[in-house]
Amino acid sequence: MSPAEVLEFAKKNGVKLVDFKFVDLLGQWQHTTMPIHKLKEETFAEGFNFDGSSIRGWKAIHESDMTCVPDAATAVIDPFVKEPTLSLIVDIVDAITHQPYARDPRQIAHKAEQYLKQTAIGDAAYFGPEPEFFIFDEVRFGEAPNTSFYKVDSKEGRWNTAKEEEGGNLGYKPDYKRGYFPAPPIDSQVDIRADMALTLEKIGITVEVFHHEVATAGQAELSMIFGPLVTMADRTMWYKHVVKNVARKWGKTATFMAKPIFGDNGSGMHCHQSLWKGAKNLFVGDKYAGLSETALYYIGGLIKHAPALLAITNPGLNSYRRLVPGFEAPVNLAYSSRNRSAAIRVPVATSPKAKRLEFRCPDPTTNPYLAFAAMLMAGLDGIQNKIKPGDPMDKDIYELPPEELRDIPKAPGSLDEALAALKKDHAFLLKGDVFSKEVVDTWIWWKEECEIKPSRLRPTAFEFAQYFDA
Ligand SMILES: [Mg+2]
Repeated sequence: MSPAEVLEFAKKNGVKLVDFKFVDLLGQWQHTTMPIHKLKEETFAEGFNFDGSSIRGWKAIHESDMTCVPDAATAVIDPFVKEPTLSLIVDIVDAITHQPYARDPRQIAHKAEQYLKQTAIGDAAYFGPEPEFFIFDEVRFGEAPNTSFYKVDSKEGRWNTAKEEEGGNLGYKPDYKRGYFPAPPIDSQVDIRADMALTLEKIGITVEVFHHEVATAGQAELSMIFGPLVTMADRTMWYKHVVKNVARKWGKTATFMAKPIFGDNGSGMHCHQSLWKGAKNLFVGDKYAGLSETALYYIGGLIKHAPALLAITNPGLNSYRRLVPGFEAPVNLAYSSRNRSAAIRVPVATSPKAKRLEFRCPDPTTNPYLAFAAMLMAGLDGIQNKIKPGDPMDKDIYELPPEELRDIPKAPGSLDEALAALKKDHAFLLKGDVFSKEVVDTWIWWKEECEIKPSRLRPTAFEFAQYFDA
C-alpha cells in the first residue's frame, strides 16, 4: 500500500486510531497510539518525534529525540484493540539528521538486505522461521534476598496426572517428550492454535501448518510461509504478538522462553533460508543434497561464525539450557540432508523454489531483525571467502562414538562463551556498515552487565538442594 492507499484503507474500515510499533534492541515490541486524524500523507515521509531515552539499549537522555517513520507497506487492522485501529510498523531515524538510527534493529535488517544487493551475490534473502512456544495456565515467579522461585502450570502438564481436579481428573495429559502429536483429547489446545492461525491469516500472514509440539504442558508451533528478510522479521513480531494475545483471550499465557520446563524439549526457532537473484534460487545446484557451491559456502560461513552468531540468535542465559544434548537441540555444528541432530539441515525440497537450508540453533527469544541480518552476514562471508563447510554428517550425531564426536565443533555451552566468541569474531557483521561497532559493543555490555553479572549473585533452588545440608 502507498501512504494514500493506507489512508483510504483506514477510511474504508472505519478506523478511529492508529498504533505505531517498533522493536527495541533486545527484541520487544514497543508501541504508541494516536487518533487516526493525526495520520497524514506527510507523516509517512516526515515521521513524528518521541523520546527514545527510556527504550532499552538506546539513546542517552541528552540526545533522546528520535523520529518514527511509518512503513506504509506494513498497514493492517490491529486484531486486539477494541476500537477499529490501524497498525503500522515504523523505522527509527535521528530527529536532527534524519539518518537511519544505528541501534534500530529494523534499520540493521534493511541495511543487511541492501548489503546483499551491493555484493551482487544476490538480490533477496528469504527466511522461514519456525518459532515454538508453550501455552500455560499459570506462571508465578518472584525473588527477594531470602527467596527465588518460579512455577509454571498447565492442565496438560504430565505432572498433573495425580492431581485432584475440579469435576475429577480425566487424564489424557501428553507424556514427556511425546506431545508430537497425538490427537485430542491428549492435545487439548487445537482450538486455541486455530484461533492463533486464523488471526495471523486475517492480518495477511499465511500459515502453512500448526500442531502440538514435543513437550508436555502445551508446547506448540505454527509455521508461516517464507518471505524476504525484513518482511519475515516483521511477521515474526506479529506471530509472537498474536500468540501471546490470543492465549490471553483464552485465559492462558504463552511464552517463547527457550527452556521453561526442566527435563523436556525447549522451544527453538529453526530458520530456513535461501538466497535469490531475480527468479533464480542460488542454493539449487548439483553438489551435496542438490545444493549449489554458493549454498555450501553459505553453510561454511554459518558454521565458522556460529559461536559468535549464537550470542545474537540465542541471546539469553536460558537459551543455553535448551542447547544441551538429548532434547533434539542442535549442539553439534555440522550439516546434513536429513539428520535433525545437525545444526544445519538441508530439507528435502519438492521443487527448486523450495531448496533451502535450515539453521536449527536459534531460539525465539532472539530479536528476529538482528538474528536474520546476522545469519545472512555469516553466510555471505562464507560465500565471499569460499569457506568450505567440511563433510556432511549423515549419521545420527547423538549415536556417534566419542572419538568421532570429538572432531565435530560444538555450539557454545553458555551465554558467556557465545559473547566471548562475538568479542573476537564480529568483523563479518560490520561489513557494509550493517551492524555498527557501537551496536555490537552495546549488545555485549547489556548482556554482561544486565543479565550475566546479576545472575552470578543469586543462589538458586538447585544450590539449596545440593549444599544446604553440607
Ligand atoms: Mg518444531
